[in-house]
This record gives sequence, structure tokens and C-alpha cells, in this order.
Amino acid sequence: MILLNPGPVNVSERVRQALLRPDICHRESEFSDMLLRIQQKLLTAFVPGAESEYVAVILTGSGTAAVESAVMSCLPLGKRMLVLNNGVYGERLSNMIGLQRLGVSELKSDWHMRPDPERLRLALRQHPEVHAVSMVHHETTTGLINPVKEIAEVVDSLNRVFVLDSVSGLAGEPIDIAGSHIYMVAGTAGKCIQGFPGVSFVLLRKGFLEQMRKYPKRSWYLTLTHYVDEQGRGIVPFTPAVQVYYAFEEALDELLEEGLTNRFQRYRRMASKIRERMAGMGVQPFLPADVQSNTITAFHLPAGLNYATLHDQLKARGYVIYAGQGQLESKVFRVANMGALTDGQIDGFLGAFEEVLAGATARA
Ligand SMILES: *Cc1c(COP(=O)(O)O)cnc(C)c1O
Repeated sequence: MILLNPGPVNVSERVRQALLRPDICHRESEFSDMLLRIQQKLLTAFVPGAESEYVAVILTGSGTAAVESAVMSCLPLGKRMLVLNNGVYGERLSNMIGLQRLGVSELKSDWHMRPDPERLRLALRQHPEVHAVSMVHHETTTGLINPVKEIAEVVDSLNRVFVLDSVSGLAGEPIDIAGSHIYMVAGTAGKCIQGFPGVSFVLLRKGFLEQMRKYPKRSWYLTLTHYVDEQGRGIVPFTPAVQVYYAFEEALDELLEEGLTNRFQRYRRMASKIRERMAGMGVQPFLPADVQSNTITAFHLPAGLNYATLHDQLKARGYVIYAGQGQLESKVFRVANMGALTDGQIDGFLGAFEEVLAGATARA
């Protein structure tokens, strides 16, 4: 099956084979060595040149575990978080912090709009109790890229902590984490890194880590400082998904061999191909081109074609697309182009789409 959903993604045969390596105990040196290598490769990939200023904390859990661990671990007693919300994943950040009653009113934007850095500046001036600001890098709901650099500048200039959900951004979009002084970035193996779901991570600025040790613990599994000291010695506090880590390391090797820039370009090229062919068929994108990501496109459902029919007919031809979420559920469908996909597979999908669309038009 060709997966055109935003994770889990199709992986290469090389990554799949890595699952079959020998059974090992996570308290043995084989595992510790692998963990240290994975951490090093993450730093090489995502904070090149600033590897000594960051640590990579690895968690067994999906991307949400990494995001929630960052949110739970970043606030001193009595301080608050402000969330920039322009999609389902921004909403999830709000829900996480709302559960703990640690938020101030979020700054909401329409789902096709980017958050406004000047509005954030004003809000931060009005809320001295806000210690951290969180945002999603790539809003998977719509495929919108948020202005990380501009927002980071405001957060940094007003001495706040920036917590970024880049679960669907890392390895798909360029980002300068160290240069923008971003303290916490959450990511996952199972999207643009092209590994399997089940392992996720937080890139954490070392200076901030020292402060975090004094903050209240709000979860046992998800308190990042529980992981840090042990992981520096190659030890994990809880049983890791060993086989998924094997595949994660292999996927990181593939990423570093391909090169980050080449991967962005490969994704961009595939997304452009999808967008151009869809435009030719009269299928309209939900977002203007200048805010679209490299890896997902939300399209308006063509007139006379509902999502279930479109989905089922494409699935019968071997392609899985993705529904809209939330308020867009009945209005859009999404096509992701993350994963180990070939140009031929994308062409195959577009051919199948054309067929399904022609069938629907003929019936109408
Ligand atoms: C996929 C995704 C998540 C959640 O990841 P899971 O692996 O499903 O837990 C969080 N944030 C964003 C932006 C995502 O795209």
C-alpha cells in the first residue's frame, strides 16, 4: 500500500530489515552504544555546528509523547505557557497545558493564517507570568508552515522559552534551531525521518536543561530530566521499543547520507508534481502557495465527490489518502508525500486519482 497520509510513512527496505536484528537487553552495552549513536546522529542532523549546545532525549512513544514531555517539563512553579494555535495540533498543545491549568488565553489564528509576531509581542508584554511560548512548526491539519524564525525572535528578545512541535517538520522543512535559540523541539521517527512510529525525541538546549531541574515534576514517564542524566550514559529509565530504535538509527543514517537539503528538495519536487497535476484537473488547494509545506497538501473536495468514495476508490487502487480534520473534515482531503516514495509511485497515484475523478464526473 502506498501511504499518502502524514505518518506512519512507507519506509525503505533497508529500514524495514533493521527490525530483524538480534534481540538485545536494554541494560546491556549493545543498547547503550546504539542510544548514544542515535543521539549523536540527531544532533548532527538538526543542530549542525551546535551539537555541544543541545542534548537529544529519546522517548518510547509516538510524537505526542515528545510534545507533551516538553510541555510538562518547561515551566517553573507559578509560571504559565502561551500557545499559538492555528490548527488541530496547536489545539492539542492548548489541551495539554489546559489539563494542568498552566495556560493563559491562547492566541488563535484562522487555519489558513500564520500567527502574527507583533500580536505575540503585545501579549507577552501584558503577561509577565508567561514563561514559555509553544507553537507547531508544520501544521499538519492544513499543511501550513508557521513563521518559526519570526516568532522565535520575539520569544527570545522578550526572554521567554520557545517550545516547538516539529513532529511533522523535522527532515521535511529547513529550520535553524540553534540560530533561532529555540530551547525545545519535539520530533518523531515516523514522519519525515522515514522510520517507524513508536520512538520520538526532544532536542533540548543545555543551558535551559540546568534550569529545568528545579521545576516541579508533572508526570513520571514524561519528565524530561528523568531521562537526561541516564541517557548521557546510554541508559534509559523505562523499557524502550528496541527494534524500533534499530530502524530509527538506520533511518537517520539514510537521512544523513541523502543530506537534509536533498531530502527537502525531493519532498518539494513531489509536492509540486502533485499540486501541478491537481491544478490541471481543477482540484483547488486549501492554502495559498506561499504558506504550503513540502510534504502535505490539503485540497478542496471536488464537487460531487465525497471523501469516503474518493478514499475507498483510491485505496482499491493501492493508495491511502487522508481526511480533513476538525472543521475541515467534510471539506478537504489531504495528500502527504512523506516517506520513501518514488516519482513513479506519485505518478501512479495521480493517474489513479484522474481515473476516479473521471468516473465521478461521468456519473454526475
Ligand atoms: C503527527 C503529529 C503529532 C502527533 O504525533 P503522533 O505520532 O500521532 O503522536 C503532533 N504534532 C504534529 C504537528 C503532528 O503532525
